[in-house]
Amino acid sequence: MRKPIANYKNKPCPKCGSDDINRILYGLYDSEYVSKCLEEGKKVTFGGCLITDNSPAFECNKCGNKFGKTRPF
Ligand SMILES: [Zn+2]
Repeated sequence: MRKPIANYKNKPCPKCGSDDINRILYGLYDSEYVSKCLEEGKKVTFGGCLITDNSPAFECNKCGNKFGKTRPF
């Protein structure tokens, strides 16, 4: 059963098509989102404090592919 999380659309992995996707969290993150992930038994990926134009926004749980773009805060 998949519960959509408001404001965070999970795109399928462009590499393997899996929709088992982590959002990579940077410096500022949404603690509500984190606790929701932990409640659902999902792992949460922290990307560190520095965010660049090339920082990927998502990580695939299946193949480890990182993709997407993080919008600057
Ligand atoms: Zn993948």
